[in-house]
Amino acid sequence: MKILVINCGSSSLKYQLYNMDNNEVLAKGLVERIGIDGSNLQHKPAGKAKDKYVFEQPLKNHSEAIKLVMDKLVDPECGVIADLSEINGVGHRVLHGSKFFTESCVVTEEVKKVVTECADLGPLHNPANLMGIEACEELMPGVKNVAVFDTAFHQTMPPKAYMYPLPYEYYEKYNVRRYGFHGTSHRYVSKRAIEMLGNPEHSRVITCHLGNGSSIAAVKDGKCIDTSMGLTPLEGLVMGTRSGDIDPTCIEFIAHKENLSLEQVMDIINKKSGVLGISGVSSDFRDLDEAAKAGNKRADLALRVFSHSVVKYIGSFIAVMNGVDAIVFTAGIGENDDIIRSRIIEHFDYLDTTLDQKANKMHGEERIISTPESKVKVICIPTNEELAICRDTVEIVTKKMVEDTVKDVLNNN
Ligand code: ADP
Repeated sequence: MKILVINCGSSSLKYQLYNMDNNEVLAKGLVERIGIDGSNLQHKPAGKAKDKYVFEQPLKNHSEAIKLVMDKLVDPECGVIADLSEINGVGHRVLHGSKFFTESCVVTEEVKKVVTECADLGPLHNPANLMGIEACEELMPGVKNVAVFDTAFHQTMPPKAYMYPLPYEYYEKYNVRRYGFHGTSHRYVSKRAIEMLGNPEHSRVITCHLGNGSSIAAVKDGKCIDTSMGLTPLEGLVMGTRSGDIDPTCIEFIAHKENLSLEQVMDIINKKSGVLGISGVSSDFRDLDEAAKAGNKRADLALRVFSHSVVKYIGSFIAVMNGVDAIVFTAGIGENDDIIRSRIIEHFDYLDTTLDQKANKMHGEERIISTPESKVKVICIPTNEELAICRDTVEIVTKKMVEDTVKDVLNNN
């Protein structure tokens, strides 16, 4: 069974084509700068050379980008399938499912209508996600599209965790509340951590997804009960360019002092803050590590502010769950930055937990990095959101196929 996974960002599109019969990635790639000068496509077919194509004219939108990806997939030279009809299903990452989607589902007209309605909560992503879905519907009629929501895993949060202390009418009128993001990643790594703990009946896991965007989730008995991101992915931890939690008064104060509009300040808080804002160096932790080692004090401060924010959230989620069995690190920083992991975990001595320094030094592989005596396990688990989307798609498409077959049989009789 071949499954295509599509992840449309605001101006980018990532794709992977899987052969799920042997869990092989047949091809993957990335289209960048959609709608902007310098649009380009990088295509990597398994076992063949990677290629990059830069287009003279900007690609107009995600539909155009998907058409180009499809051309590459069936291209006699760099393609990996003979015909698009070989694809059995397409899984789409959808950013915001509001309170309406608690799990992945097959895309219908009704689903598309609700995703459109959620667009004011995810204005950059949801329209791009829909365009991706509609392009696939057009190019591969009859093939099922599955929507996998970034917010769905967090829908098990109780009202006391998702309710904002604002006038209740905003929740009733506009669904203003905490939703949480990176749900597919938190679900994937928490499930894996519970398996590594031996599938106990009860478990308390804290998953730290630390990448360009960072978030933490408290997962009790496999279900998310709290998370750091909110109505949008701006709340919570300090991030690459996003501020995370700040006193909302900063927005009004800066707008007033700098004579900026609300939109301009929000842009600064989204794109020029976080570790980039503090350091003035970079949003990339590799650059910050290097600058800090070379004596740059602001880079060092940015790294310390970041670790401190992670420590605070882990501590509060331990309190929320009345304990913890495993702390999981994932995503670019979580999987690779041993100094940050070490700086965070040293605050949890009181849990009788210490890092195994040798295991902590290893990169990019699944492993327990706490000492065998540690009461709380600290685990590195590389996230794989694409594989999680693919698995959901297989499950839903297969179920649908069985239902269709049953229907066909019933119709024939
Ligand atoms: P995204 O949110 O874009 O998916 P990733 O999970 O790929 O982000 O994380 C990207 C970030 O991971 C980079 O900006 C960088 O800060 C960090 N990173 C990647 N590799 C390393 C490394 N070896 N050491 C420290 N940080 C790293």
